Amino acid sequence: MARKIVAGNWKMNMLADDGQQLIQEIVKGAAEVDCELIVCPAAPFLQSFSMLKGNVKIGAQNVSAFDNGAYTGEWSAAMLKSIAVNYAIVGHSERRSLFGETDDQVNAKVHKLLADGIKPIVCCGETLEQREEKLEKEVVKLQLVKALDGLTEESLENIVVAYEPVWAIGTGVTASAEQAQEMHAFIRSTLVKLFGDRATEIPLLYGGSCKPANAKELFACEDIDGGLIGGASLKSESFLAIAQSF
Ligand code: PEP
Repeated sequence: MARKIVAGNWKMNMLADDGQQLIQEIVKGAAEVDCELIVCPAAPFLQSFSMLKGNVKIGAQNVSAFDNGAYTGEWSAAMLKSIAVNYAIVGHSERRSLFGETDDQVNAKVHKLLADGIKPIVCCGETLEQREEKLEKEVVKLQLVKALDGLTEESLENIVVAYEPVWAIGTGVTASAEQAQEMHAFIRSTLVKLFGDRATEIPLLYGGSCKPANAKELFACEDIDGGLIGGASLKSESFLAIAQSF
């Protein structure tokens, strides 16, 4: 069985003081939750959070597909490792749509992270147009096949997958529990076909307007192992309430 995770993607929000206060509140509340918590602040604040212990882990929101050198504005997996970052989000739909991140780049990032012992949180998800054309499964499958190309069986235990329908991110519209479960079951079976039974241990997170009011119903679904939370991760009460929804 996959482990339970609730991850907060702060995106480009929170200044130093607000972030410190939020992380302290999360650390305080973490003892009350029965899952792993991952906090993904903006890159400038990663080092100040990376000494955290227990069930609160730190994640980056991105990583370079390159090792090192003349890549202004980028940071490498090795740099994240050097400040003890545990996870990194790759292939978030905002990276794909606003910054042109491709499936090949996502795949390269996954490999760089794994080589440095950092766990990738690999995002996938269809747009509204793709769902309306009933292409959602095809799109998600292709994203996963490409993102995870070349992975060894041993690396599976270090992978997390987040299904985030683009039409649900930051819109207030959540996928229904049925829609989410259907896609998660499809993702689970796709991963098993690709990698064998060990893939059942890959945590599958749902993301897209997840909040305390809908987390319980979503997390009760057989193939949903937790959430990747955007807006609702910026307040400790809502983030912790979601984490208490298993
Ligand atoms: C996200 O961006 O990963 C996300 C899930 O955002 P929100 O919860 O705000 O929809």
